[in-house]
Amino acid sequence: MKIIGILFLVAGVILAIYGMMMDTSLPYSNVYNLSLGARQQNLIIASGFLGLIGLIAFIKAPTADKIENSKKCKFCAETINTKASICKHCGKEQPIAEEKKLMIWLKK
Ligand SMILES: [Zn+2]
Repeated sequence: MKIIGILFLVAGVILAIYGMMMDTSLPYSNVYNLSLGARQQNLIIASGFLGLIGLIAFIKAPTADKIENSKKCKFCAETINTKASICKHCGKEQPIAEEKKLMIWLKK
């Protein structure tokens, strides 16, 4: 998910550079064209939003490690760590997984 944020951010930066380098004068003259100027302004605003969305997605997206080490609580359906024996949201004890039971049995 972090890659989507990076892609949006890069797209925003490219769009911003393109918008800033855009020629707003009419061909064969150096007169500033209001229509082209407005288009440039819209491009820069859109690039700002795109970059902002990308930045938020990049910061807020959970890492692969966090996704791998999380499960849903059987009682309140909140996301908790796979190693947790008590849910941090509802405080209920988590049922022990079969492989964990086997490990406890083998240690006896
Ligand atoms: Zn819970």
